[in-house]
Amino acid sequence: MKTLQQCLEELATERPLQPDEYLDPKTGLPRCKRCHSPRRIRKSLFGRERLLPIACKCQQNGDSSGKKNTKKQEK
Ligand SMILES: [Zn+2]
Repeated sequence: MKTLQQCLEELATERPLQPDEYLDPKTGLPRCKRCHSPRRIRKSLFGRERLLPIACKCQQNGDSSGKKNTKKQEK
């Protein structure tokens, strides 16, 4: 059984940049190429700094694929 910490560790595992992301030169954090919102945030967890994935604006709007999804998805 996984501990909460293990789950968070997995979440925070470094991932390569996605094709629609770029690194913000100021913060070094990935941002979305389309909406320019951060895709990662820095959080201190268990005494260590980690990058946690977050949804950028277009992902929050359900538009992460870049193309129009079929309309069946409501929420
Ligand atoms: Zn975006």
